[in-house]
Amino acid sequence: MNKYKKYIGENWYCFILGPLFMTLEACGEFIIPFINANIIDKGAANGDIPYILQNGFYMLLIAIGMLITGVLGAFFAVRGSSRLAAGVRQDTFDKIQTFSFADIDRFSTGSLITRVTNDITQIQNFTQSLLRGCFRSPIMLIGALIMSFKLNPDIAWIILIVMPILALATFLIIKTASPRYNAMQSQLDTLNTGIGEAITNEKVIKSFVREEHEKGKFKVINSALMQKSVAALKMMMLMQPVSSFVVNATTLIVVWVSGRQIMIGGMEVGTLTAFITYLSQVLTSLNFLAHIFLQGTRAATSDRRISEVIKTKSDISDENAAQKDHKIASGDIEFKNVSFRYFKDTSAPVLDNISVKINSGELVGIIGSTGSGKTTLVSLIPRLYDADEGEVLIDGINVRDLSLYELRDSVAVVLQKNTLFSGTVAENLRWGNENATDEELVMASKIAQADGFVSSFPDGYNTEIGQGGGNLSGGQKQRLCIARALLKKPRIMILDDSTSAVDTATDASIRHAFREQLPNITKLIIAQRISSVMDADKIIVMDNGAVVAVGTHDELIKGCTAYQEIYYSQKDREGDAV
Ligand code: ADP
Repeated sequence: MNKYKKYIGENWYCFILGPLFMTLEACGEFIIPFINANIIDKGAANGDIPYILQNGFYMLLIAIGMLITGVLGAFFAVRGSSRLAAGVRQDTFDKIQTFSFADIDRFSTGSLITRVTNDITQIQNFTQSLLRGCFRSPIMLIGALIMSFKLNPDIAWIILIVMPILALATFLIIKTASPRYNAMQSQLDTLNTGIGEAITNEKVIKSFVREEHEKGKFKVINSALMQKSVAALKMMMLMQPVSSFVVNATTLIVVWVSGRQIMIGGMEVGTLTAFITYLSQVLTSLNFLAHIFLQGTRAATSDRRISEVIKTKSDISDENAAQKDHKIASGDIEFKNVSFRYFKDTSAPVLDNISVKINSGELVGIIGSTGSGKTTLVSLIPRLYDADEGEVLIDGINVRDLSLYELRDSVAVVLQKNTLFSGTVAENLRWGNENATDEELVMASKIAQADGFVSSFPDGYNTEIGQGGGNLSGGQKQRLCIARALLKKPRIMILDDSTSAVDTATDASIRHAFREQLPNITKLIIAQRISSVMDADKIIVMDNGAVVAVGTHDELIKGCTAYQEIYYSQKDREGDAV
């Protein structure tokens, strides 16, 4: 409830005026049948035209008043609920921005999307119904009930019998529907994850001609959602025919009982008309209240799912960091007996007792077979994940004791598959530093060997690049990503296989420029090709989650079997290119 308080407070007038206008509108609903009954019983029965005209005029005024209050009530209900939803949506999104990778893995991207969109829409719909009906429906219910008893207590008791029947039906429907809503929302999570994956990996799907497979996969998920939606929503739909049946059956009983009274002169036709209107008002109000309850059930499921996000305390935070003010100076890195598992309950660690030291300004290569833990190891430096055991130190300080902002601002990571955004080349580069001058853009691009191809574009740095850098080659994108990272002016630069799509000569030029022009930055280069790391100050060789050797190319080629194996396998494949 706390998450809504702020937005209810900020939009308090909507939360007061909405129900108030809707209640005023309801008052009109009571009066109209009463006047109508008088027109029939007193005006029409006696042929009193002035009486009919006068009361007709009152009815018109009330109808206009109801129109105005109804519109205003709906306006404030929509405004209040939309603003509340927008606020909570923003808070949920902001919270997700603080999530660690592990948090995102735990929820799944699809589920987070559903929670920020569909779940909040459920809360919005419920709030809107609540603002429209929370006072209006009970007041109409009680008011119409009182009027019915006033008109004819001999018949009004029928309504009292019907009410618990309708309430029981609603209770049973809600009880069955609630778990089905849960299942429906979970299936929606799966659907959103599927859509997200298919759209982001569209190129891979096309290149492997897997469209039919993807369509089939989606069909299964989509049809499961359809079945779960039918199961949940049919319960909600059941409410309508059930209550219509109750209304019609009750009307029939009332007409039958009152017909006998009219015949013996105990009741007038106008009174019967008014009575039936009040009866339908009682039942419509009950119906609307049941509808609010049903929506509330659905909203309760969504509320729980949103709370799970908002209450998540990211497992990576700097709340208890002891040296928040420390500015990373040297960029020394040390892994001290570090072990890590992605799934905490699995037995085999992904990183097993790693101890290695990297000095400030060094250019360090990391090499090893796929899955040996290279990416995981460097992910611990900017705390994308936290080590389970041991310590990762920068400047001799545990990364957990540094401010997260300072840490991540000082460490630049360029992944193999990094993302560019739609916009110009310059705009993309300024992601690294929004205040970078044009000269700085060119300088960073020169080091990343990107200036050459960017300058060859007719619009140079103002060239528009399509969504995700669609109109650039893989190697060009990688070089722009390196330039963007350099503009951050990091103390530590990590290239995670980020020159894989760049030719060997350009790759060598990038390393040469790194060494010459960035002597003070600590540079870590993860690579598949030995040629990418052989001139490094030191090379870390990883195998199966462990560091098997650290040394220069010459040292390793003499003394490290794992390194020799990689070297000779690549030499065999590429001839003398290595
Ligand atoms: P490398 O970079 O050497 O190819 P990684 O560090 O990417 O190796 O992966 C090491 C191991 O951890 C692999 O077995 C991989 O399957 C697993 N792994 C990597 N990322 C995740 C993740 N987000 N969740 C679970 N397991 C992961």
